[in-house]
Amino acid sequence: MLDWNETVEEIPSELVLTPPPVREDSDSTGLGEIARGAARVRVDDKAMINCRADVNQLLPLKYRWAWEKYLSGCSNHWMPTEISMQADIALWKSSNGLTEDERRSIKRNLGFFAASESLVANNIVLAIYRHLTNPECRQYLLRQAFEEAVHTHTFQYIVESLGLDEGELFNMYREVPSITDKAAWALRYTQHLSDPSFATGTLKADQAFLRDLVAFYVVFEGMWFYTGFAQILSLGRRNKMVGIAEQYQYILRDESIHLNFGIDVINQIKFENPHLWSEEFQHEVQDMLRSAAELEAAYGRDTMPNGFLGLSAGLCEQYMHFIANRRCAQLGLEPVFPSTDNPFPWMSEAMDLKKEKNFFETRVIEYQNGGSLTWD
Ligand code: MN
Ligand code: FE
Repeated sequence: MLDWNETVEEIPSELVLTPPPVREDSDSTGLGEIARGAARVRVDDKAMINCRADVNQLLPLKYRWAWEKYLSGCSNHWMPTEISMQADIALWKSSNGLTEDERRSIKRNLGFFAASESLVANNIVLAIYRHLTNPECRQYLLRQAFEEAVHTHTFQYIVESLGLDEGELFNMYREVPSITDKAAWALRYTQHLSDPSFATGTLKADQAFLRDLVAFYVVFEGMWFYTGFAQILSLGRRNKMVGIAEQYQYILRDESIHLNFGIDVINQIKFENPHLWSEEFQHEVQDMLRSAAELEAAYGRDTMPNGFLGLSAGLCEQYMHFIANRRCAQLGLEPVFPSTDNPFPWMSEAMDLKKEKNFFETRVIEYQNGGSLTWD
């Protein structure tokens, strides 16, 4: 066990060389020239953005919440191939197991997620990672990036298992307008951040970075994914597509940490840079959440034109309003919609996988460890 309270051994003062000052131009990537003999990193030197302390040093740790999320992510490890697809395959291939409305909704849901997992992963690796100048947050981002790969793998596995048209599914984000509109909305916020010449450090740039965090963590993963989970889990509750539903529960467990990490990152940046969180900017974030909810409502009408048992476009819109207000509260903002009840109270149970009594029974938990590896 690591001991976080460990104190650094005192070095007799006569032996301490006067360290050169940290250079103003020291890099935030961690790949620049090594500052030979520079002062050691102190906790107080660390910051979320625009930090000049060496980003290659995880310790001393400043943001325990980020490290804790890294540990939680690791202990939630799973792979899609551990879940049996037999029941889903039988149901999907049978001629009367699912209604046309259910098939349409399932396919669009899979199509939305299949591309979205990649968009989220690319945003982490090519936009967020570069500008978040804290090693413990980057440690979590590396874990999250892997989890997004596992999620993308899930959709590959589903396509393969059910024999779906891969071109149709993976192209939905370009071919189905209600899905394209959501992806295009979010991409606006990441496009200039992934530009190699983009740098934080000005009010304008730092706010652009915050907007990207809101668009991807709060809206994409924190709002749109949640109606997607509700759709599939509601089918699972009726014993339909139970394999996919189980996979979605694992994805949901991962995503709830992604979301909470994003919220913590935004709140910490706010705390360290209060000038960024102006009244005007707060209104802008509220507008983002409002327009994201509208896009989701349009997607709901498109994917569930007639609704089916327990689920309809109207209920999904109500759920989105409920979720948007919750996200506002997490960010310290006033709600954007009139207060509403959660139309899917069972979603909170679905998020607590420990309540699934067959969870550990169905899961392969013996991962290959060092002792069983063979090198030839
Ligand atoms: Mn994901
Ligand atoms: Fe995610």
